[in-house]
Amino acid sequence: MFTYSIKELAHALAAGKISSQELTQLYLDRIAALDPKLNSFITVTAEHALAQAKAADKKLSTGEAGPLTGIPMAHKDIFCTNGIKTSCASKMLDNFIAPYDATVVSKLNDAGMVMLGKTNMDEFAMGSSNENSFYGNVKNPWNIDYVPGGSSGGSAAAVAARLAPMATATDTGGSIRQPAALCGISGLKPTYGRVSRWGMIAFASSLDQGGIMAQTAEDIALVMNAMAGHDEKDSTSIDLPVPDYTTKLQDSLKGLKIGLPKEYFEGLDPKMAELIHTAAKALEAQGATLQEISLPNVKHSLPVYYVIAPAECSANLARYDGVRYGHRCDNPKDLLDLYQRSRAEGFGAEVKRRILVGTYVLSAGYYDAYYLQAQKVRRLIANDFHAAFEKVDMILGPVTPNAAFKSGEKAQDPVSMYLSDIYTLATNLVGSPGLSIPAGFIDGLPVGLQLIGKHFDEARLLNVAHQYQQITDWHKQMPSI
Ligand code: GLN
Repeated sequence: MFTYSIKELAHALAAGKISSQELTQLYLDRIAALDPKLNSFITVTAEHALAQAKAADKKLSTGEAGPLTGIPMAHKDIFCTNGIKTSCASKMLDNFIAPYDATVVSKLNDAGMVMLGKTNMDEFAMGSSNENSFYGNVKNPWNIDYVPGGSSGGSAAAVAARLAPMATATDTGGSIRQPAALCGISGLKPTYGRVSRWGMIAFASSLDQGGIMAQTAEDIALVMNAMAGHDEKDSTSIDLPVPDYTTKLQDSLKGLKIGLPKEYFEGLDPKMAELIHTAAKALEAQGATLQEISLPNVKHSLPVYYVIAPAECSANLARYDGVRYGHRCDNPKDLLDLYQRSRAEGFGAEVKRRILVGTYVLSAGYYDAYYLQAQKVRRLIANDFHAAFEKVDMILGPVTPNAAFKSGEKAQDPVSMYLSDIYTLATNLVGSPGLSIPAGFIDGLPVGLQLIGKHFDEARLLNVAHQYQQITDWHKQMPSI
């Protein structure tokens, strides 16, 4: 039953074929057996899960159950969970027990979902390979010599290996879509402001967005129904009604205009280009029309992102000073020593690199040259997307330049690591929703197709992905771990 989608599991629960407690135990057993190979969980919350499952079974038996009641899942360890360690994969927060639930967590609790545990990630969500975790690397279940992508590598590996039917994740520059692609699962980064950031540990606040990883677009739609919506505790959350994301899934693709940005295909690896074109043709055969578009400023996304994200990170991470919470050094001799040693000991190398870059680009004398300039170019990139969306309903392209790379291959070369996100970063700079779905394999490793939509058009993205998943079975392939 671990191969089932959420939809199928919900049917099995409703029909009484299995109880939520049995289902939860099945996943806990799978985690115990397989996760030592993958390291996709930082914390497994077996007792908590079985208690939630028991409560869910009660609801199932009294007819009070919703579509997600009793379904097991995992949270990326960036979401605060009341009474349960929330580490953000950092030594800095190794001792942090959150005193409250993130909005995303309480919403999925209210929907009756069962939390199996907290997934591994790159420290503070900075990375593309899950090699920056204080708790060790995560392995790609398709081949454990390869990276699962990052920063939500634990969530992606767990869903791909069927250790959980779904997991939450976050995406600041690609951290949902890139690992989803490299692990052969589906992942949605919603529109900025669609899902509450309250209780989600901040990396770069103008870019961060929580989202979902699952096997199918349909499952993502089911979870979005429970997860999306306005939250007065997050001032950037948007007060718009939440549609039922499942109602458009069956819509025909007739008349849908899909744009293929020429900049995303220039110099693209031929094997990747062929797979993406094949997927586009499949959508065309279902009634969509394809047209080439241009996003002339998208080439600046990488430098713009790597100014803005570190700038915001340096401000957000200033709170970890060893005073209020988190790691504190032993025997500080004065306040400055406390700050310096607590931070030097608590943060890993990549986080320190970002803080240094961010502090530099925000400092007097450099602010105008770097930060302000980056914000202006960000606007130009957004203008390109707005202009494109005048002509087309949706943008299609690759998620990553290549399939997964080997562990260690890019660890010493930050720029080559940063290039893994070249096709995903713009979406965050613009705030648009982006979806990654499995689209084939290159040399035995999965790769993804990216669909980028207009703001708040998640239902349409999920519709297209669902239709694609009716005629392909890439999303059903699973690693033989
Ligand atoms: N890989 C990118 C980075 O390292 C994006 C990370 C993310 O989306 N959280 O910043």
